[in-house]
Amino acid sequence: MMYRHVFILSGALDTIRQEVRRTPFLKETGGPMVGYVSTDEAVVVTHAAGPGPLGKRGYFSVLIDGRYATQFCNRAGQEFNGCFYYVGDWHCHRGWSLKPSHDDLKAMRVMAAYVGCPMKRPISLIYRYYPEEYRAYTLNSAGRLEPTPVSELAEVPYILHSRKLLK
Ligand SMILES: [Zn+2]
Repeated sequence: MMYRHVFILSGALDTIRQEVRRTPFLKETGGPMVGYVSTDEAVVVTHAAGPGPLGKRGYFSVLIDGRYATQFCNRAGQEFNGCFYYVGDWHCHRGWSLKPSHDDLKAMRVMAAYVGCPMKRPISLIYRYYPEEYRAYTLNSAGRLEPTPVSELAEVPYILHSRKLLK
């Protein structure tokens, strides 16, 4: 079954905005996203990070520092009694298109196949800074990236709202 929706918390989206803003013009950047899947099959992204100190921001791709990403996911995951975990990656496109490239698809297939990946179907969020827009894709059982509706969420649903969750 596909996820019905992806919700991204404003704090996580702000992290993405800041990371894109401070990346040299025309270079791509990206990083891991942490969150959870709700009982009614929506993905809630609670945290996002940049590529890390050993990550490489390139003109047509971004290489994420795996060690940093794992540490980030573990740290964010512990914040709410281990309820949060890696849900996928985000990266920016510098051109107009928000469609996943062949390399984007390959990267998500590699993540889904990784034994430590808690998500059978990780999501890929593609972000464009100006004019701002973002799209989410889910790696489906056929191994393709399928568009999934995405929207910003100002606050964590009430059950998870009792602690400081952002950043
Ligand atoms: Zn891409």
